[in-house]
Amino acid sequence: MNEIFLMKLGEIVLKGANKRQFENKLRQNVRRRMKPFGNFDVYIMQSTVYVQPLDQEADLEGAWAACHTIFGVVSLCRCRPCEKDLDAIYNAIEEYLGEDLDCAKSFKVESKRSDKAFPMTSIAISQEIGGRLAEAHPTVEVDVHHPEYTVYVEIRDLAAYVHGPAEPGAGGLPTGVGGRAMCLLSGGIDSPVAAYMMAKRGMEIECVHFFSYPYTSQLARDKVLELARLVTRYSGRMTVNIVSFTKIQEQIRDHCPEEFFTLIMRRFMMEIAQRIAKADGCGALITGENLGQVASQTMEAMTVTGAVVDIPIFMPLIGMDKEEIVTIARKIGTLDTSILPYEDCCTVFTPKHPKTKPTLGQVLHAEQKLDREALIREALETVEKLTVRYHDDPLL
Ligand code: ATP
Ligand code: MG
Repeated sequence: MNEIFLMKLGEIVLKGANKRQFENKLRQNVRRRMKPFGNFDVYIMQSTVYVQPLDQEADLEGAWAACHTIFGVVSLCRCRPCEKDLDAIYNAIEEYLGEDLDCAKSFKVESKRSDKAFPMTSIAISQEIGGRLAEAHPTVEVDVHHPEYTVYVEIRDLAAYVHGPAEPGAGGLPTGVGGRAMCLLSGGIDSPVAAYMMAKRGMEIECVHFFSYPYTSQLARDKVLELARLVTRYSGRMTVNIVSFTKIQEQIRDHCPEEFFTLIMRRFMMEIAQRIAKADGCGALITGENLGQVASQTMEAMTVTGAVVDIPIFMPLIGMDKEEIVTIARKIGTLDTSILPYEDCCTVFTPKHPKTKPTLGQVLHAEQKLDREALIREALETVEKLTVRYHDDPLL
């Protein structure tokens, strides 16, 4: 065993009495996420997750990349474990970090000693190891204030660990500690980002997509499944419910005033999503709505749409600018797929002059010719449940 990952817990350390439960969840999540990469031991001690490969076959690079997408981790580093002995520590640094050190102009050693039985203080460890390294690397200056490179030494219970600078983790809370929610996933830029953001707050995510074959194509459906797959890189595997929306849209087109098309359609989406959500144990809905972005996302429109559901609707993008949303979409890798030009069911029946300040009374009147309950039940019979995993083949 000559390399191990140490991951520092984020906000979990603040969670007082629930800390144990949060840690257990995180450990489970890390174990599951490491499975595709071989045999790893995963344990948590002193607010740190240890991810230790158990044999030479383990795919360290794959595992390391995956560790960056696990919520609940603020920072992570690859370390070399060694005996808790100054010579062993010095040799481990030379072997493991010597080349990186040589590339820097200046360095310092920073030590932490959580094993208080170790006979030297952190400062004394840093001075001793720093002195030896300075002698062996005369071209690299010691600079304790603004070093280009920092060598870290951690004296922990089981061993000493040496490592270079840590990298930022995915942040957030461990998936599963925030309950379970149903995200209305379209093929656009926003809703995959919304799903990611709520997953980051510890929610397990399930998705529902409404598609209107033949008005929208098989490609548009694959695009949504591909977006879901990209989100599972962070959220872990998810169920995607595909609901046929064609009949509802045709009925709206044939029986309702055009200015209310989008609103009535969105009320159907919300209500159907809520029914699937409740049946699947989801306690909230998630949408990618964003105040003022389009006519159906004014405060008045959202009041009318939200009126059909009685569970919370989480809209993590509500106050963001498009640019901020795009930045996240790019970071999580959904943007390129989102901007592929396949049509969405919303765009097919878009009214020319949508109502931006509707009242609930107007909309109830506008939809009165529809048999809502029958249409909803019929749509629910079309639900197709698919399981999506990051390691599935890309769909596009
Ligand atoms: P997005 O980029 O997520 O498509 P948008 O800005 O295009 O959002 P709308 O098309 O008005 O906005 O949709 C608002 C929200 O409604 C979406 O973020 C998504 O949560 C949900 N939604 C829209 N269309 C669908 C669909 N076909 N299936 C499931 N959910 C949808
Ligand atoms: Mg859209």
